[in-house]
Amino acid sequence: MSRAIVVGGGMGGLLCARVLSERFDEVVVLERGTYPTEFVPRKNVPQGQQVHILLAEGYRLLQGWFPDFGARLDAIGVHEVDFGADSVQYLGGASMPREFAGIAMRCATRPLLEGTVQRAVSEIANVRIEQDVKVDGWVLRDGVVIGVRVEGAGEREADLVVDATGRGSATPKWLEETGFGKVDETVIDAGFAYATGRFRVSDPGRLLGVTLMVCNAQAPDWPVLGVLIALPDGTVDACQIGAPGLHPSLDPAEFVEGFRRCGGPMIHDALVGAEVVIPPAPFRNTGNRWRHFEKMAKWPGRFVAVGDTACTLNPRFGQGMTVAAMGADSLGRWIDERGMASLQSDPVGFAHGFQKRLCKSMSVAWMIATSDDRNWMPDSPVGLKDKVAGWYFKQLMSLATKDMKVYVQFLKVAQLLDPPTRLFAPWLVVQALREGLRGTPPPARAVAQVS
Ligand SMILES: Cc1cc2nc3c(=O)[nH]c(=O)nc-3n(C[C@H](O)[C@H](O)[C@H](O)COP(=O)(O)OP(=O)(O)OC[C@H]3O[C@@H](n4cnc5c(N)ncnc54)[C@H](O)[C@@H]3O)c2cc1C
Repeated sequence: MSRAIVVGGGMGGLLCARVLSERFDEVVVLERGTYPTEFVPRKNVPQGQQVHILLAEGYRLLQGWFPDFGARLDAIGVHEVDFGADSVQYLGGASMPREFAGIAMRCATRPLLEGTVQRAVSEIANVRIEQDVKVDGWVLRDGVVIGVRVEGAGEREADLVVDATGRGSATPKWLEETGFGKVDETVIDAGFAYATGRFRVSDPGRLLGVTLMVCNAQAPDWPVLGVLIALPDGTVDACQIGAPGLHPSLDPAEFVEGFRRCGGPMIHDALVGAEVVIPPAPFRNTGNRWRHFEKMAKWPGRFVAVGDTACTLNPRFGQGMTVAAMGADSLGRWIDERGMASLQSDPVGFAHGFQKRLCKSMSVAWMIATSDDRNWMPDSPVGLKDKVAGWYFKQLMSLATKDMKVYVQFLKVAQLLDPPTRLFAPWLVVQALREGLRGTPPPARAVAQVS
C-alpha cells in the first residue's frame, strides 16, 4: 500500500493532497493547527485576515480538481466575478475598461477560500487530515526520507513526504544539519507593508455594483495599492499596501484617508463614513524569497517542498494560492511522467527532478512580482533592457485603458493564464510602437492628488 504524507494543511498542502489522492492508496495531511468550524481566520496563519484573491488560473485548476467548487462557493455567497465587467480597476492612475473580459475568478477572504478547499479535501475517501499534529523533523535513511517525526508521538512512515509548511518551513535548517548543505536564497524585498480592515459601507451604491475594486501601484508616481472586496455578509474587506514611507496607518480614520493616495478615488469614496467592523490588521513581511532547492548538489530522496516553502511572493500580486495550485499540478504531472515505481528505483532523481520542474510553475509569477518590486528599490541596477521593457509596458498600459483586446491580453498574463510572451505578439508590438510615437500624456500623479 502506498502512502504520501503532506506536512502542512494550508492551500499548498491541501491541493497536493487532492492531486496525490489519485496516485497513492493513502494520503495523510498533518496540520499543526486546527480548522475552525466557521469560516474565520485560523490561529498560526498571520495572513489569515488579509484579503485573498484567487487568480483565474488558480480558479481554473481548482474547478478541475473539485467539479463542485463553484457550487460550494456559490452556496456561501462567494460568486464568480468577471475581472473586466465585475470590477473597477485603476492602473497607474488610469481607469481601465469595465467590460466583459471572459476572465473568471473568485475573491473572498482566505478563510472562505481555504475553508472551502479544506472541506472538499476532507471528503476525499483516501485522504485523512489530522489536526493538532506538529511535525518536528524528517526521518532519514541512507539519504532517503522515509517518514516524519511527530512532536510527542513518534514516527510515521511514507513513500513520499511533501513539505507544505509555508514560509516558516524548517527544511533549510534541517538540510544543513543533516549534511545536505545550505540552501541558496534569492530575496527581493521592496519593503511594502499591508493592512486589511473590515467595514460596513454607509451606502451600498458606493460599491458601484461590483465585487472587486483595485487601484494598482505603479512606480514611481503611484506608491499605494488599494483592494476592496465585497463579502457575502454585506461587509467589505479593504486592503491598503504602501511602499516604504507610505505604510498604511492602523488607525481606522487615517487608514481610510490613506486610500486617497491610490490611483483611483473609488475605494476611498466607498469607505467614507463606513462603520468599522474589524480594525485594520498589519502584515509587513512582504519580500519575495526563492529558496533554490533545485540548485542543491545533494537532495534527499522521496522528499519534495512546495508552495510558500519553496517560493514566497510579495502578496500584492495575489499569486500565492495560484502558484501553490500550479505546483500541485506539476507534482501530479511529474509522478505520471516518471511513474510511481521511480519513487523506489530512483528516489533522489525523482525528488530533485521535481524541484527543478517546480521552477517552471513559479518562474512567471516570480518574474512579474520581482520585476515590479525592483522598480521600488532605489539601489536596484537599471540596465538598458529594463528601460526598454519599462517603456514598452507603459505603452501597453496606455493602450489597455482604451482597447479592451489589449487589456484582456494583459489581464491573461497577470492572472497567470497566458505566458508573458503573448505580450510581445507582433500585433501588440506594432500598436505599442504607434502609441509611443503618439506620446500619450501620463495621468496626474498621486502625490498631487492628495496635496
Ligand atoms: C498578507 C498576505 C496576503 C496574501 N494575499 C494573497 C492573495 O490575494 N491571493 C493569493 O493567491 N495568495 C495570497 N497570499 C499568499 C497565500 O496565502 C499563500 O501563498 C498560499 O496560501 C500558499 O501557502 P502555503 O500553503 O504554501 O503555506 P501556508 O498557508 O503558510 O500554510 C502552511 C501550513 O502549514 C502548517 N504548518 C507549519 N509548520 C508545521 C509543522 N511543523 N507541522 C504541521 N503543520 C505545520 C501551518 O499551520 C499552515 O497551515 C497572501 C499572503 C499574505 C502574507
